[in-house]
Amino acid sequence: MSTSRRRFLASMVSVAAARVLWSESPDQTAFPWGAPVIDCHFHPRPTLEANLAHIDGSGCQAAYLLARLGSADDVKRFMQQEPSHFPGYSVSTNVTAADAIALLTAAVKAGAHGFGEVKYHVACDSPRCAAFMRPRPS
Ligand SMILES: [Zn+2]
Repeated sequence: MSTSRRRFLASMVSVAAARVLWSESPDQTAFPWGAPVIDCHFHPRPTLEANLAHIDGSGCQAAYLLARLGSADDVKRFMQQEPSHFPGYSVSTNVTAADAIALLTAAVKAGAHGFGEVKYHVACDSPRCAAFMRPRPS
């Protein structure tokens, strides 16, 4: 998988923002985990309120959403509504489907920062799984 310089820098800005939040906190013990935590494997709930309740309950300050392809529009809406809580998203789909690579490529071009859950009974060293790891022309 490749990433653009812009996306890499955006990720680094998110990490830097979390570090600033932590360093500017008057009481660093306010963080249940000892420091700000971003959940990097968060399956979105149906509503914004349910998503906020979940990250608050887990002691996280933000979550990186991991959505099925069909719910990409929902996660984009959550990101627009609460950008400090939901800084980005990835998508997943059944990687054994014939059009999986095309679908995931289109999703990344539409704004997804990557993809996950590449685990649909595919051997990690199989040609099918390796196809997801090859760099693609942009
Ligand atoms: Zn998962």
